[in-house]
Amino acid sequence: MSLGKKLIAIVVFLTLFGAPSALRGQAVPTFVGIRTFLGAPYVTKLDDLHADFAVLGVPFDEGTWGQPGERYGPRDLRESSQEYNHDLTEGFYYIDGDRTVLKGKHWADVGDVEVWPTVPALTNDKVTAAVRAILARKAFPIVLGGDHSITFPILRAFDIPLTVIHIDAHLDTWTGAPGNLDHASHILRAAALPQVKNIIQIGMRGLANDPEAVGNARKIHTTVFTSEEIHRSGVASVVGKIPPSENIYITLDVDVLDPSVAPGTGTLEPGGLSFFELHDLLMALPAKGKLVGFDVVEVNPYRDPSGRTAQTAVRLMIDLLGAAFH
Ligand code: MN
Ligand code: MN
Repeated sequence: MSLGKKLIAIVVFLTLFGAPSALRGQAVPTFVGIRTFLGAPYVTKLDDLHADFAVLGVPFDEGTWGQPGERYGPRDLRESSQEYNHDLTEGFYYIDGDRTVLKGKHWADVGDVEVWPTVPALTNDKVTAAVRAILARKAFPIVLGGDHSITFPILRAFDIPLTVIHIDAHLDTWTGAPGNLDHASHILRAAALPQVKNIIQIGMRGLANDPEAVGNARKIHTTVFTSEEIHRSGVASVVGKIPPSENIYITLDVDVLDPSVAPGTGTLEPGGLSFFELHDLLMALPAKGKLVGFDVVEVNPYRDPSGRTAQTAVRLMIDLLGAAFH
């Protein structure tokens, strides 16, 4: 091996394995290293996947009716996740409660799906295939969007009965154009999947939920809890009305959060959930059934130079997983 190759090998080795891991919370400066989610090992071939959690990016925003830029969501979430980059098998420590969650869990970042600009059906097929491969390897899929249309091809990959818990300011049940799949109609499409047995929608509000969307939601028999109901009655009251089910899949549109908390998204709507309202909701939902997968969608870094949207989303992701796997 030449000296140059040896140096490259040493640098690669130190980048992958040499980071100090004694500190929890953050073990390396956030500006160091290659951007995988939480600094997890990058697994480029799904056949080689051996992990509890597999993080998949879907950099796709051709389904949006709002501001584009969600294609950079996976990149932004990975960047913000560096704040919590450490030896992930040590878990995550919370000062409140003096507790550690997710200890001993192995994470992998399996990169982004192959995206074919202007050929969304092909991209969607790649999403379904990637999630199927993750499930076949017995890993838990965590998908980073992308606009909300990506949830449909994810759900398509499951072959077990699912209750979909859809957290969003919007119902996403517009009729849309025949045969289309976009971020405002994907729930209507998902309802037609045989594995989707039940849909619970939480956080809807504002003027974008028109009679057409509400009418369609009623037709497919979703259960809706609005943001206003949470503000007035509290999270616990709403959680108490959610029936238990066998398997739950959670899809989290960050626009459910108030724009003051999460300005980095394409379709802003006032009156959203606070951090703690959403935190408490996500902490409570895993008691309703076995969490089998989730996605975080609609992060748009171009509307949030502060990065707080992605940072908040990453924190909530860890909160949810900690509640689900203990
Ligand atoms: Mn949505
Ligand atoms: Mn939305």
